[in-house]
Amino acid sequence: MSIIKEEPTRFLVMCAFCGGKGKDPFGIMSLLSACYVCGGEKAVWMEKIGTGIAKECLFCNGSGVSPTGARNHCAVCGGAGVVWVEEPSQVCPDCNGTGWQPDMSLYCIVCKGKGAIPVEKDAIIVEGGR
Ligand SMILES: [Zn+2]
Ligand SMILES: [Zn+2]
Ligand SMILES: [Zn+2]
Repeated sequence: MSIIKEEPTRFLVMCAFCGGKGKDPFGIMSLLSACYVCGGEKAVWMEKIGTGIAKECLFCNGSGVSPTGARNHCAVCGGAGVVWVEEPSQVCPDCNGTGWQPDMSLYCIVCKGKGAIPVEKDAIIVEGGR
């Protein structure tokens, strides 16, 4: 994961799908066709939603390529290799933070493959409180 630029509401990351080359890594159309994830820009703008942190995509290991086989972009990060995880977050109880469904066929629906879910404010248990 390489963040190139950061702004208050968004950040620019190197396109993991094409490795920052701007070209379709699989050359489906032709070897010269532009990467469809970044549109040949070599980098992708990601939106910041509330407060949070940019993390390497668990599902594709930051590669941007779908880990389920097809020559597709990763469905979780959209090919950027990076996901935005809202903070405070907690480990997803459904996938135990792996981002995968138990049968390893698809990303976890609960955390959308991020491995973490935002902590709901009213769900925070105050320690010692009764
Ligand atoms: Zn690209
Ligand atoms: Zn991914
Ligand atoms: Zn999960």
